[in-house]
Amino acid sequence: MGRDSGYKLLCSSRSRRRKGPPGLDWEISFHQILRRQKYQLIGGHSAVKKCRWLHESLTRNRPCYKEKFYGIESHRCIQMTPCLACDFRCLFCWRTHPEDLGLTGDDGMYGWDDPEFIVEESIRAQRRILSGYKSHVLKGLLEESKYLEALNPRHAAISLDGEPTLYPMLDDLIGEYSRRGFTTFLVTNGGNPKVLNGLGEEPTQLYLSIYAPDEDKFKALCRPLNREAWRKVEESLESLKNFKSPTVVRLTLVKGFNMDDPKRYARLLEGAEPTYVEAKAYMYVGYSRRRLGYGAMPSHDEVKGFAETLAGEMGYNIVASSEESRVVLLSRLKAPRRLR
Ligand code: SF4
Repeated sequence: MGRDSGYKLLCSSRSRRRKGPPGLDWEISFHQILRRQKYQLIGGHSAVKKCRWLHESLTRNRPCYKEKFYGIESHRCIQMTPCLACDFRCLFCWRTHPEDLGLTGDDGMYGWDDPEFIVEESIRAQRRILSGYKSHVLKGLLEESKYLEALNPRHAAISLDGEPTLYPMLDDLIGEYSRRGFTTFLVTNGGNPKVLNGLGEEPTQLYLSIYAPDEDKFKALCRPLNREAWRKVEESLESLKNFKSPTVVRLTLVKGFNMDDPKRYARLLEGAEPTYVEAKAYMYVGYSRRRLGYGAMPSHDEVKGFAETLAGEMGYNIVASSEESRVVLLSRLKAPRRLR
């Protein structure tokens, strides 16, 4: 399917029925906002954005917790998505939802771009982002060797925005990155178990986000567009044990919403046997500040307290943590496996 093959990206029957306000071109408006937020848009539905930790790594030698845990070098990491649309509307999401802008529906006219094109353009976009750091090298603030390494990224975090499993050529996209020597992290909301189960090409590490211990809390917090979403998330959880690559269940903990019952999470995760559980605090950033209060962000100690109970219930160990990212890593392993 080529770049110009135009058909609508429709993630829900609701978006199929609704249209944007009269006279407003939905896609143009939404993309303008994303550009203002410094997204590098690629083709019709993909994007790259500079990760805060890429900047921190280049300017202050401070990598993200995934470098510390798994050896993924922040300065060589592309934060990207092959699909800007999402089938959830999570309250805690830092990204802009169409509804935040008074727009309805995700029905931009997209043609699905080829994986090769997306991968190639994501690397070019990353190099455009990095061009701004050349002056740091000239001023002696950044080692040239590190800058040159950064220009040759080795890792793709397929997690920036939207839901990657809505992109119909995800398999080939992962394969295309792998062929170029990249490691990949795929982060999914679990709403498309069929896509997960059908992946011929596994990512280096698979992340499944679990946002609530039961359906009621899930619906209140994630506002999925699909009525069957919870059942699908449960199905995705079940499929984790079929993966050869390490799997991570990521819990985004929102105070007052979803972190009062670690035992219930333990029961939910029982059969999934993830290699890791990342218990991570919701961060009061981006557009989420319009939907939640500051008090919804738990402290690192609160995340730790939650993680300790969960670890005890699951028979997992706490194997790493990062206070600045307010994340605690649980596993049956003694220490996280380095991927590079
Ligand atoms: S793994 Fe995620 S947080 Fe770390 S550098 Fe890459 S995009 Fe940023």
